[in-house]
Amino acid sequence: MLDAICELTSEQGETTRVTYQVFTFARMPEEDIDRLRQRLFCPACGGRAYFRKASKDGKAACFGSRYHRFDCIEFKPSAQKSREEQDAIEVHQQLVDADALMIDFSLKPSKGHSIKAKSKDSVAHTQHKAVNTADYSSNSVSHLATSGGVQEAGADYRTLQPANGDIQKTQAKRVPSQGLEKLLHSLLRGSDLASSDLWVYTDSERKYRWRAKNLFVNFADADPSDHKPHMYWGTISHTDPTMSWLNPADSKDIGIPIDGIKQPLLAQFEIEDKRGLEGAGLILFGKCFWNKEKTRKIIQLWNNDLQRIFISKLED
Ligand SMILES: [Zn+2]
Repeated sequence: MLDAICELTSEQGETTRVTYQVFTFARMPEEDIDRLRQRLFCPACGGRAYFRKASKDGKAACFGSRYHRFDCIEFKPSAQKSREEQDAIEVHQQLVDADALMIDFSLKPSKGHSIKAKSKDSVAHTQHKAVNTADYSSNSVSHLATSGGVQEAGADYRTLQPANGDIQKTQAKRVPSQGLEKLLHSLLRGSDLASSDLWVYTDSERKYRWRAKNLFVNFADADPSDHKPHMYWGTISHTDPTMSWLNPADSKDIGIPIDGIKQPLLAQFEIEDKRGLEGAGLILFGKCFWNKEKTRKIIQLWNNDLQRIFISKLED
C-alpha cells in the first residue's frame, strides 16, 4: 500500500484527514512518525493501517493493514497494481541512492506487458541516430515555434555547460539507468520524480541532462510557450474516431498526433482498438506547441521516434 489516510485531531477537537504517501511519510522525523502511526487508515476501505519502516536488508518502507474489508482492492491488489507499485518503489530507491539517472530508451518492457520483438523496425533505429545529433537545452530559443514541427529541431540546441565541476563528479560515478515503463509507473503512482532535483540524462553519452523536475511534465502543465522538449506524461482519455490523435485525460485542450506512426505504434504495444488506449498511461518525449488557431496544444513525439514513447495499457 503506497498511501494511507491519517486522521489528525486539532486542539479544538476537529478532525481532518490527510493522505500520506509512504515515501513522504517515511522521510518525516521519527517522533512525527510515531505520533501519527496509530492514526493511519486504508484509503480504500478505511481499515486501520500500520507503517513499517524500511528494513536493513533493503525492503522498502510500506503501509499495510490487517483490517481490510474482504473486498478491498488494497487487500488483494491486482497483479498490475502490485507491479506498478513495485516499479514506483524501485524508481524511488534510485532517487534516494543516486545523484543522477539515465533514461534507457531501448529498454524493453517487462514481461507483464508482452510486446512483439521489433528488430525489423528500422524506423526506430535510424530515427534514434538522428535524435542523437540534436541537443536540447534549457536556454536556447529555437525556430520551432515558427515552423511548427519538432522534426526541424537542429543543432541549435546546446547542453548547459556546468558552472562548476559537478558534471565530472557525476560522471565518475556509475549512473543507474531506467526505462520509460518504470518511470511512467513511478510518475503515475505519484512519486517524487516529478519534483526531484535529480539529474536525468536523455542520452547514453551523457551530453544532455536535465533536472527531473524540469524534464517530466504532466499533460496538465504542458506550456507551448516554453519552446523546450520534455518528457510529457499522464493518462489517455480516448482517441478520435480515426485513431489519429491521443487525447489526454489530464487536459482537455491537448492533442497528440499519431497519424504518421499509427500502425507501428499500435503494433508495438499490441493495441487492437480504441478501447485498448482508453485509460492507458502514456509518456513521450516531445515538444508542445499551439495549433494555427491557438485553440489547441499539440504535443509532437520527438522525430516520431517510437523508442521515445511508452504506453502502459490497462490489463483487464
Ligand atoms: Zn483496505
